[in-house]
Amino acid sequence: MEKKQHVDFIIVGQGLAGSLLSYFLLQENQRVVVLDYPHKGTSTKVAAGLVNPITGRRLAKSWRFEEFSSFAKHTYLALEEELGVKIWNYRNIVRALHSVFEENEWVRRSGYPEFQPYLNDTPTTADFEDKMQPPQAWGELVHCAQVSMPAFIEAWKKLLVEKQAYVETDFDYQHISLQGNKVSYGKWIAEKIIFCEGAKATENPFFKNLPFLPTKGELLLIRVDGLPETRIYKQKLFLVPIGSGLFWAGSTTSNEFDDANPTVAGNEKLNADLKASLTVPFEIVAHLAGIRPTVSDLRPFLGLNAQFPEFGIFNGLGTKGALMGPFFAKQMADFLLGKGEIEPEVDIERFELGTHNGHFFTKLNS
Ligand SMILES: Cc1cc2nc3c(=O)[nH]c(=O)nc-3n(C[C@H](O)[C@H](O)[C@H](O)COP(=O)(O)OP(=O)(O)OC[C@H]3O[C@@H](n4cnc5c(N)ncnc54)[C@H](O)[C@@H]3O)c2cc1C
Repeated sequence: MEKKQHVDFIIVGQGLAGSLLSYFLLQENQRVVVLDYPHKGTSTKVAAGLVNPITGRRLAKSWRFEEFSSFAKHTYLALEEELGVKIWNYRNIVRALHSVFEENEWVRRSGYPEFQPYLNDTPTTADFEDKMQPPQAWGELVHCAQVSMPAFIEAWKKLLVEKQAYVETDFDYQHISLQGNKVSYGKWIAEKIIFCEGAKATENPFFKNLPFLPTKGELLLIRVDGLPETRIYKQKLFLVPIGSGLFWAGSTTSNEFDDANPTVAGNEKLNADLKASLTVPFEIVAHLAGIRPTVSDLRPFLGLNAQFPEFGIFNGLGTKGALMGPFFAKQMADFLLGKGEIEPEVDIERFELGTHNGHFFTKLNS
């Protein structure tokens, strides 16, 4: 029989959540193994990574932006040092204001003290104006950033492999068991197993009743010659420079979908938005899709299973993983090590989950 390997934590999933959580646990000298499988639809692999203080048509201020962005910056810069890849990029967002109403709203908001540091009413536009369809006016969001999320998780995976802390495997819930107060899975025995499966958590029998509302997002990678790569543009859609003349163009949002594949309808919508945004030709390099782990109350999911505290979850980063991920990964790590609490607003205990998780719990108990 294969000898069991003792670890402190098994982490399932190596998207943004699993990567950041394993980072903070390894920093505390914990023995960690990360199990991941390249499923279609991994959100982090296709995310633009925007860290944006003011979002949406209604110009809403992001929840606790100052606190989260300062922690995020500090974390990603430390990761850059450790991994030798660029992750945190300062980039302002120039945003098209499509009507007099939108322009007035922008100006009105810039008068509020909490919005003022982030809104510039009179951005320079000369360097890109001839390549974009002219809107009513342009505004500029400052103190924004773009996190190179795919580059981060790729580099982090390499480091985990070097530390022999990464295994590519499709985790099978049927093969998990409890041995006393430890978790046994495959060749590992762990104090705890923490699930970071992104939208695939909807298949997890141990956290069955969490109100996930996954949304599919599609995007195009395009080449646009001559469009400056210093800022992010938001015309009909976001155009995010990702280097070598390439732009991430997106994205769609749909909560009704059959699978994680790019669709014809998504392609048509993105093409139409691009034509309504750019006045210059663009070349489509790729069409990609991912499933965001969005949730009903827009707050992350942190916590342990009430009946089996050997099982934990860190998920629900939704559309703001780049901004909120580092702060809550650290909070989860501190909690797991008995060094801190989970805030009630993100604790899964805020939901009535019950303990009826079917045959899995019967099996675990037997
Ligand atoms: C089009 C698009 C644009 C986005 N833009 C932004 C943005 O600009 N800014 C921002 O902050 N966020 C953005 N997001 C959201 C962002 O991607 C998420 O907040 C974040 O990446 C979620 O990370 P995660 O680790 O929870 O999930 P994921 O990245 O989906 O990772 C989950 C991992 O778990 C693995 N896994 C699942 N089940 C198993 C299993 N049984 N066995 C083994 N492995 C398993 C998966 O294969 C995957 O590798 C965007 C998302 C999309 C789709």
